[in-house]
Amino acid sequence: MPEGRGDGALLKVDNLHTHFFLPNGVLKAVDGMSLEVERGEVVAVVGESGSGKSVTALSILRLIPRHQGRIVDGRLLFKGHDLMKKSNREMQEIRGKQIAMIFQNPYAALNPVIRLGDQLIETARKHRAVTKSEGLELSLELLTHLDLEDPERIVRLRPFQVSGGINQRIMLALALIGEPQLLIADEATTMLDSLTQVEILELIDRVQRETGMAVLLISHDLGVVAQVSDRVVVMYMGQRVEQAPTGEILTSPKHPYTIGLRESAPDLETKGKRLPQIQGSPPDPQNLPQGCRFAPRCPHAMERCIQSSPPDFRLDDNTLVKCWLFETGSPT
Ligand code: SF4
Repeated sequence: MPEGRGDGALLKVDNLHTHFFLPNGVLKAVDGMSLEVERGEVVAVVGESGSGKSVTALSILRLIPRHQGRIVDGRLLFKGHDLMKKSNREMQEIRGKQIAMIFQNPYAALNPVIRLGDQLIETARKHRAVTKSEGLELSLELLTHLDLEDPERIVRLRPFQVSGGINQRIMLALALIGEPQLLIADEATTMLDSLTQVEILELIDRVQRETGMAVLLISHDLGVVAQVSDRVVVMYMGQRVEQAPTGEILTSPKHPYTIGLRESAPDLETKGKRLPQIQGSPPDPQNLPQGCRFAPRCPHAMERCIQSSPPDFRLDDNTLVKCWLFETGSPT
């Protein structure tokens, strides 16, 4: 999906900068991030913990706690409308109804003292013009569709009385009940066992195909998101370092960081084998290198990489790489 088609994109994040103001300085968690999601597309954002993936997601929904940080620059366009110009009330209407989000820890996202059914009914009534009994009926239908066994019993329980997998299905139902056009799933399967992880991903994939909604799938695990995404955006230290169709990222990753992620991601061929890890640790986010941020860990680093940060080089309509090794591509 060429980036130039962005004006018609469902979501366009353009040169986003989200900074946190700490007592000892500024932390540039997101520092010039761009991405797009087309209608009906599944885009994965991958990167190690601390790369800025979740802050990007929270920024899209304008959920960065004000006392901690703020979006200092960039544009967030949803269906061509600038989310930065929306009032708090307008954003509340967009959240859940047009853009829904599911989080890593359903126990933290659900209200622990309210029955699961009541949480579903409340959300249904918030986003759809339904009565309480219609909300319950809608919730039961949705839970059945999400392969939840015995939904009539489950809706009478509270979050601590059911498993993490069931709670994550409830979170998914809460997200889907408003029929959003974009679902953001932030590490939605990370806390689950591998079998439940696959089930939740398959559910997201199935619902996506049935409804045509777009999905922004955020994960540290390239192997997990590759199963369902059309395109992958790789993030490192607050920036996009590569963007390409998923098949290309898996078979022919370009950026040295993406190559490292790919080699350390388990798949069928590597099952049971010891996988190589990316050498070194990410730099201190409050003391970033002046040149390429990956240079201290990169096996191909040159003098130039240490001196100056590379721009995005466009290799073709679908592929962007932020690395001096690809200077022959056209800078964007
Ligand atoms: Fe490595 Fe240089 Fe490319 Fe950065 S710009 S990833 S240091 S080769």
